[in-house]
Parts: sequence; C-alpha cells; structure tokens
Amino acid sequence: MTPGLEGKVGLVTGGTSGIGRAAAVLLAKAGVKVVVAGRRDPEGKETIELVREAGTDGLFVRADVSKASEIDTLIQKTVERFGRLDVAFNNAGIEGAWVPIIRQSEEDWDRTIDINLKGVWLCLKYEIRQMVKQGGGGAIVNMASITGLVGSAGAAAYCASKHGVIGLTKAAALENARSGIRINAVCPGAIETPMAQRLFGLPAVHKYVLGCHPIGRFGRPAEVAEAVVWLCSDRASFMTGHSLVLDGGFLAGQNSPS
Ligand code: NAD
Repeated sequence: MTPGLEGKVGLVTGGTSGIGRAAAVLLAKAGVKVVVAGRRDPEGKETIELVREAGTDGLFVRADVSKASEIDTLIQKTVERFGRLDVAFNNAGIEGAWVPIIRQSEEDWDRTIDINLKGVWLCLKYEIRQMVKQGGGGAIVNMASITGLVGSAGAAAYCASKHGVIGLTKAAALENARSGIRINAVCPGAIETPMAQRLFGLPAVHKYVLGCHPIGRFGRPAEVAEAVVWLCSDRASFMTGHSLVLDGGFLAGQNSPS
C-alpha cells in the first residue's frame, strides 16, 4: 500500500478516459476513495465501476472544468459524499485544433485556454479553499505536457496552455507551501490514449512522433498514473512546485543529431 493514501479522498478531472481513468484506478488501488469528474456520463460510470473493482468507493460527478459554478458544485458534492478532499489530479484537457496561428480561430484559442489553463486554475481555487478549510495538508497534481516545456509548431494554443499550467503550478505551490498543500505537475510525452490517437493516428505522423521518443514507443496511461499516485503520496513529502517529465527520453534528445 502507498504510504499515506489509504482512506484518503481524491478527485480526478477528465477521469472518463485515458490517463485520468488510469490514475483514478491506481489511486483506488492505493486505498483512495475517488471522485471522477468529466462530461460524459456512461464513461464516468464505467470508471467508477473500475474504481469499485479496485476495492474502494467512488462517485462520478458531471462537470465541465471551464465553468466555475460546476467546479464549486463538484467540490461541494465531494465533501457531501466523503467528508473532505485530500488529493486531486487536475487532468482534464483537450488538444484543440493543431493548425498554424494564422489559421487558428479565436474560438479554438479561447476553448483550449479555457479548458486546459483556466480549468486547472478553477480546480486549484476550489480544491485549495477546501483543503485550507480542513486545516491544511493535501497534494495536488496538475496535467501539463512536454509541450509545457518546449514549443511545437502548429500547436500554439495547446503549448501556451501547458506552459501556463507549469507557471500556475509554481505560483500555487509557493502560495500554499506553509499550509502543507503540495502542488506539482506532470509533463508526459506521447501517451497511448484517445487524444494521442486523434493527434498522431495517421501512419506518417505516428512514425515521426515515435521517432522523437528514444525509448522506441509511446507511454502507457498507467505509467503516468504511477507518477501521479507517487506525487500524491507521503513518499513525495518534500516535493512541491515541480514539473515531472515522463517522456521516454524525448526532451533528452532535443536538438541531438539523429
Ligand atoms: P483523453 O482525450 O482520453 O482524456 C481527456 C479527458 O478530459 C477526457 O475524459 C475528456 O472528456 C476530459 N475533458 C475534456 N474537456 C473537459 C472539460 N471541459 N471538463 C471536464 N473534462 C473534460 O486524453 P488523455 O491523453 O488521457 O489526456 C489527459 C490529459 O493529458 C490532457 O490534459 C492532455 O492534454 C494531457 N496529455 C496527454 C498526452 C498524450 O500524449 N496523450 C501527453 C501529454 C499531456
């Protein structure tokens, strides 16, 4: 059992598929009661079934992370059902349209920033309020990406949102360090999820992106979930404000001759 997680209450946004679902299940295996937030009811209920199979209790709450009132209600429902909030994984995100800036619509820019960046800020705001109200203590992990650390041509809004998440993580960590609330981020490379399938599904694109990962494959959702659970646990008790890269060597190989 992961130290300090048994019996805790956790929240995972975007837990209806991909990395969020894997994290919800792994948190449940560590003994965490898991609230899953997302926009799709059937997929949310499927994740909760997996959480219960893993041996703990769970609750699905329909919520759009870009809407303040829905995140306020999400935290209220979490506390009504399980009494408190100890750990959170702010994972929900979209890829938006991957097109050059000159072809990008204002609507797409706004939607990508609203969900990927404002959504994380809103979640932090209501999660931290609840943790402080409980007397402090807790751990939060935000979903960034390697595109939070380096640029990617044709993905300006996505890159900007993920760079923003890293800055937001540092500021939030500093604000809350003395309250015992640790706030970190994860920065995955390409991970086998529905999003990666949408972005890198075409054979030529898949081959190119695969070639950027020295390890020779995409990551698996469970490999990111392992890091999230560790960051939420007492094993990471001296870690806050950090952005942890899980990228199969992608960034180590930036600019190296191939
Ligand atoms: P995914 O599409 O399977 O999962 C994204 C989840 O977020 C879905 O469940 C979706 O319904 C949910 N979501 C989207 N908008 C939402 C909203 N407004 N409110 C609530 N939920 C919403 O893809 P994934 O790859 O598992 O993505 C999870 C996170 O990981 C995203 O933030 C993504 O940017 C990030 N990420 C993914 C990769 C990758 O290669 N797959 C790499 C780095 C970072």
